[in-house]
Amino acid sequence: MKVQSYAAYVNGKWVQAENGNILEVRCPADQELVATVPEMGIADIDQAVRAAKATFLKEEWSSHMNAPTRGKLLREIGRILHERVDELAKLESLSSGKPILETSLIDIHMAADCFEYYADLAAHIAGRQVPLAQQALDFTLREPIGVVGMIVPFNFPLLLASFKVAPALAAGNTVVLKPSEFTPLTALELAKIAEEVGVPEGVFNVVTGSAEAGKALAEHADIDKLSFTGSTNTARSIVHGSSNSLKRLTLELGGKGPNLLFADCDLDQAINGVMTGAFMNQGEVCIAGTRILVQESIFDEFIKRFIPRVEQLPMGHPLDWNTRVGALISKAQLDKVEYFVRRGLEEGGRILCGGRRPQGEVYDKGFFFEPTVFVDLTNDCEVCQEEIFGPVVVVIPFSDEEEAILLANDSKYGLAGGVWTKDIKKGLRAARRLKLGTVWVNNYNLLRVEAPFGGYKMSGFGRELGLEALSDYTQVKNVYVELEDEILYLYD
Ligand code: NAD
Repeated sequence: MKVQSYAAYVNGKWVQAENGNILEVRCPADQELVATVPEMGIADIDQAVRAAKATFLKEEWSSHMNAPTRGKLLREIGRILHERVDELAKLESLSSGKPILETSLIDIHMAADCFEYYADLAAHIAGRQVPLAQQALDFTLREPIGVVGMIVPFNFPLLLASFKVAPALAAGNTVVLKPSEFTPLTALELAKIAEEVGVPEGVFNVVTGSAEAGKALAEHADIDKLSFTGSTNTARSIVHGSSNSLKRLTLELGGKGPNLLFADCDLDQAINGVMTGAFMNQGEVCIAGTRILVQESIFDEFIKRFIPRVEQLPMGHPLDWNTRVGALISKAQLDKVEYFVRRGLEEGGRILCGGRRPQGEVYDKGFFFEPTVFVDLTNDCEVCQEEIFGPVVVVIPFSDEEEAILLANDSKYGLAGGVWTKDIKKGLRAARRLKLGTVWVNNYNLLRVEAPFGGYKMSGFGRELGLEALSDYTQVKNVYVELEDEILYLYD
């Protein structure tokens, strides 16, 4: 494959880093060089933010261009994304290590759906009339916030960027997006598409680089809002770095998803859901259902049926259509997964399948790890409390509904989880009591652009998707209009 040399996109121009540094993007499955991108630093980020600010202040995007026209451009971006799914899915899989089946069927199409959804909503952003007494007219305006900085991780590169870019642009903001250093390519392809459809220069900027570039964005005084998706640890430094300028923040962080299987569930369906929840994207999913809580009376039956399914999961190169488990993103991520597997054993856990790097030539150069299932661990151990971000799950028995909810909620995270039961009252009771931003009853891992998504507790705050995200990218102005001729002033 020809190695592509990308530039970053700032103020409608394709640019290199000021100091000429570049980053290599390599395929995590075999270390092949896929592309290079500029490794931008503080000065480059400053340029991009200045451009986004100057563009916002011109008000062309937010006010002179009407909302249906903004919507039209976003819809066109969505259409082109759908059209280029094959090429973009390949690029995404090569740089992230995730199976082509997933990027082709889910990531790129859902990113496109996101642009189409917010394209339709752009013209419906509106304030409200406030019913005061007759002698005054009061109304609100929903206005864009300004320059939005966006920092996204490696696991769903284009999709997570689209969750942010589409509503922010629909609402009239300007954007500086920094993708992960591991997976910057589809964000740059998105910039090409934005340029192609005619999004005005300076409205959408993509900068590339590593933590230093992200830090510069988080700390920049002219970023009005920062929307971050990534780890809870990085979020701490972002909150700290952004505190000087008191930016508005959306934080989409880690998780440790509980997946609850009650004895009365449809076990076949539940196992399908557990498989998707646990091993999609080789477990590098913030909403992954990594704590599988199973009612005691069906525990043995569940294990009997579940383990052979896990053992049969095809692992391989991300571009192979048979692959269901690809490569982890980096050596550091692989080391982290191995550390937690060792910890699980030290804590008294028993491994029923997996637990090591796969053997064989195909795997030698890649960051592969076998899907791994632990039992005999309690919910309070490190492996059950910390986000591993790899194909490692723990199955824990529970006696009744009360205990299931207590175990599920016993976590610092609160992103998403599932409940499997044929008793709808039990399902809804659990949905009410789980301290999670998303609860699926009889499904798992299902996100829809229309439905809000985000965390409770240390999984973050703010919401993506749905009407909620649109409202997170606007601010409310109240306008009071005096209708009385004779006004009594306090200091007449
Ligand atoms: P990460 O926090 O290491 O990096 C995310 C982004 O932040 C990258 O672009 C990186 O360059 C940048 N960054 C790193 N250090 C920074 C700093 N000090 N200041 C500013 N930016 C900095 O996360 P990752 O390893 O890329 O992704 C995995 C994490 O993301 C997991 O914890 C996962 O749960 C989380 N995640 C959350 C969601 C969600 O919606 N809640 C979705 C996907 C992933």
